[in-house]
Amino acid sequence: MTDKILEVRGLTKTYGGEKKPGAKQPTPTLDVLKGIDIDIYRGDVVCLIGPSGCGKSTFLRCLNRLEIPSSGSIKFEGTEVDEAHIDAVRQKMGMVFQHFNLFPHLTVKKNLELAPTLLKLKDKQAISDKADELLARVGLSDKADAYPKSLSGGQQQRIAIARALAMDPDVILFDEPTSALDPEMVGEVLELMKELAHTGITMLVVTHEMGFAREVSNRVIFIDDGKIQEDEPPQELFTNPKHPRLKAFLSKML
Ligand code: ADP
Ligand code: MG
Repeated sequence: MTDKILEVRGLTKTYGGEKKPGAKQPTPTLDVLKGIDIDIYRGDVVCLIGPSGCGKSTFLRCLNRLEIPSSGSIKFEGTEVDEAHIDAVRQKMGMVFQHFNLFPHLTVKKNLELAPTLLKLKDKQAISDKADELLARVGLSDKADAYPKSLSGGQQQRIAIARALAMDPDVILFDEPTSALDPEMVGEVLELMKELAHTGITMLVVTHEMGFAREVSNRVIFIDDGKIQEDEPPQELFTNPKHPRLKAFLSKML
């Protein structure tokens, strides 16, 4: 049985068009997503690629309602991702950002413990044990009591991934997790993501790392002009791109 974890139908997102009090005209509109349909299955590792500004971040952010879709429907594990269900959805949908977004005033370990503690998911000892286990898993046990700013970018991103894992998510969304890193730190983060992928967790990864997409993902999705233009296994998409814009995009990337 294939287990569908996400179902997206007719998703559109238009920015702008707000009428500000006193303004004569509404703000200009920009149609970013023009009808996205996709099913994601448990265990999928999906890489999302496409030119800058094509709406990759907007798409990921609509999935966990950091942006409100203009129309269409998103179901996560059978539950509509709407205002009424968003807290429950976010518990099972982790997110890792380009700029880590760790809490600067909390130690590394407290960063991992915060959300499970606020949500009273487990007792204090179990939350602490889980944080220790995750710190060991990302190779940063010695940084438990350090503050984020004392860590390298690569270490901060590994902590951000551990923090997402502290909630035992069913899917993790990654928005260009290595784009803000110095080149020498990209490898350690990609390596951790590769290990994660092998655990079978569902991952959606916006990335420009074509090597990672090729090696680790089972699907690569090319977004352009507000739509999914191709959705193929990496060996097919990279060796036999069909869409002219994908060909042009890849020739610039590789
Ligand atoms: P990508 O992640 O593929 O680079 P984004 O989803 O960030 O693209 O952005 C898609 C388009 O929407 C861009 O033209 C961007 O400038 C615009 N955009 C993104 N966020 C907003 C916003 N909050 N308000 C208005 N326009 C936005
Ligand atoms: Mg983006």
